[in-house]
Amino acid sequence: MSEDVRSEVRDWLVANWDEELTVQAWWDTLVDSGWGFPTWPEEWFGKGLGRADSRVVSEEFAAVGALGAPGGLGSLLAAPTIMTHGSEEQKQRFLPDIASGRSGWCQLFSEPEAGSDLAGLRTTATKDGDEWIMSGQKVWTSGGHQSDLGMLIARTDPNVAKHAGITYFVLDMDQPGIEVRPLREMTGKALFNEVFLDEARVADADLIGGLGNGWAVANTTLAAERAGLGAGGGGGTSAAVAGSKVGHLSRKAGEFTRKASSGTSGGLSGQGFAMLSEMAKANGSVSNPVIRQGLMRLYTLEQLGKMGNVRMKAMRGAGMEIHPSMPNIAKLSQSDIVRQTRDIGLQIMGAAGTLWGDSAPDGGVMAELAVFSPGPSIYGGTDQIQRNIIGERGLGLPQEPRPDKGIPFNEIPR
Ligand SMILES: Cc1cc2nc3c(=O)[nH]c(=O)nc-3n(C[C@H](O)[C@H](O)[C@H](O)COP(=O)(O)OP(=O)(O)OC[C@H]3O[C@@H](n4cnc5c(N)ncnc54)[C@H](O)[C@@H]3O)c2cc1C
Repeated sequence: MSEDVRSEVRDWLVANWDEELTVQAWWDTLVDSGWGFPTWPEEWFGKGLGRADSRVVSEEFAAVGALGAPGGLGSLLAAPTIMTHGSEEQKQRFLPDIASGRSGWCQLFSEPEAGSDLAGLRTTATKDGDEWIMSGQKVWTSGGHQSDLGMLIARTDPNVAKHAGITYFVLDMDQPGIEVRPLREMTGKALFNEVFLDEARVADADLIGGLGNGWAVANTTLAAERAGLGAGGGGGTSAAVAGSKVGHLSRKAGEFTRKASSGTSGGLSGQGFAMLSEMAKANGSVSNPVIRQGLMRLYTLEQLGKMGNVRMKAMRGAGMEIHPSMPNIAKLSQSDIVRQTRDIGLQIMGAAGTLWGDSAPDGGVMAELAVFSPGPSIYGGTDQIQRNIIGERGLGLPQEPRPDKGIPFNEIPR
């Protein structure tokens, strides 16, 4: 099967890939072909392929240097959530623009006092005719300043237990009542934001998965996040960013494939070993046995991550149930991979690894990776939370005390 897929996608790329096309024109071509998201169902812009075949597709894209499908949270999180919980009408309304990269999405989950304890969120949604009125504050909203739409969870009923009173909505980010304030990270960039909601509005038609069912819907989003960001996941999407506000859609597709060949994402996408072994060969440090050992540890972690992912997909494909802790283990492994990439990368580069910017010997890759490296062990649920879930749900260990369990949200002491 894989070899048939390989020759089919190769022929298709030879006939269609053109780096002179705009990003939008190329993504439209991908949508029509199904090769952009080969694991998605055929009726929704995919090919219904398994993971192994989808890797073959990615390899062929890389081989010709073709730009991948739209990246970002629309394809990573919103699409699988809407495919699982959305009505037919909602799928038809939202999925085409996600697949073609026309809409950029952000995830409005975390709040100042609801991160690990996400179900403690306080943003309220109040019904007003055919609409809902949203008030509250979200934080750490990646890409919120560049998004067209947001996946928003809000409290629709404070009189029931905290998990039961939450509902999931799609929020139009361009409206009065939404203020997005960038937060500067230690990388120097401002990729995430605070988002203030002051009577922002959502049509009832944009409520996903049923009133009061938001916790289950949000867990689909979080599972997709763990699967996509965990070791062995992700890849295949492109360096160009989806959405009308980013400004990538009208640029030439070839610009992004040239850019994608460098940059800091190596340590985050399973390519860290390849990137660092090249650096070590280039500066001679590959002959240092400690560095070789560190590189091999990184290689082992990456391979384990990839195999775990292939195993999960194969089990799903064969109709078997995967162990519920596997995505949590993948997410934890990815944190290890990023730390190992940072540590061994800085050893390889020595003092030069602390230099910032394009004129640094490594183009500033290691310095940027080093300051970004705490991120993956926090987003999508911290390492400690992943361990709690594995302990409680995977190993059957006693649960953490939950004094607020079953108590109506508005009666929980603060
Ligand atoms: C780069 C980045 C991007 C992000 N993007 C988004 C986004 O787009 N949208 C969004 O909604 N959120 C986003 N987040 C937020 C992220 O999901 C939260 O930061 C995360 O869930 C942790 O919540 P918190 O920051 O409130 O920390 P807290 O929950 O306050 O945790 C603080 C510390 O206490 C530990 N802790 C908390 N509870 C327990 C427990 N029960 N047992 C053991 N240890 C515990 C945690 O592990 C952590 O070390 C992003 C975060 C980062 C770093």
